[in-house]
Amino acid sequence: MNKHKQLPRMWRPTIPLLLSALPPQMRLNCLLELLNSPTEDAFESKYAPAWEKLGTASDAWKSRAEILRDLEPLVEPRTPKQARDALSNLVNKINSMRLRCFWVIAPGTRNWIDPRDNTKKFNFFWLRLGAEQRVIEFGNEKSIVTMIFFDWGNSRKVLYSIILNALQNGAIEHLRRCKWKDCKKFFTTRDLRKKSFCTAKCEKLSKNYDSRIRMNNWRRFKRDDASI
Ligand SMILES: [Zn+2]
Repeated sequence: MNKHKQLPRMWRPTIPLLLSALPPQMRLNCLLELLNSPTEDAFESKYAPAWEKLGTASDAWKSRAEILRDLEPLVEPRTPKQARDALSNLVNKINSMRLRCFWVIAPGTRNWIDPRDNTKKFNFFWLRLGAEQRVIEFGNEKSIVTMIFFDWGNSRKVLYSIILNALQNGAIEHLRRCKWKDCKKFFTTRDLRKKSFCTAKCEKLSKNYDSRIRMNNWRRFKRDDASI
């Protein structure tokens, strides 16, 4: 094989793509499942093999209440101040967690060949390119030096590093909570302008409920009006 075509030596394709720079609205799956599962058993049954590097499902479950408390005021703020405070508290907290950073040399190309199965794969680090991340070339080999978090096995730290990644790359803005009162599921949306409901079904249920409330209020008003 041509030496220059080889993958940079330090590149480890086993780094879960979950923690690398990803397109917004993607790769928050583990977090979504954690927040949306009603019980630990339900979460465990959905725990994907790819997430096992985070730690066990039951360890991850222990952080659920804390993450919910941190994300709720950010995703569903009652006032702009509440959102500002939630963001600042979240970043302060993550700073105090002393997440372990690790720098890797990733391919400096859009796609890379995974030596495990010899297939072409998209290089998610490519999405980080911009003012602070550039392709460098030494000895005809293109690379990107970039940072990942490295707290495998400590699910609380890994979950907060997923959140931090989402804060940095903007994916957090795509995180929503269904407005239908009986659902309240977290979900991600591609379209930032709309989407208050996780599914069309929830939207319909909510609209029907609202119109029933309006109708009841109107009837009550008429009844009260007639009794005066
Ligand atoms: Zn819903």
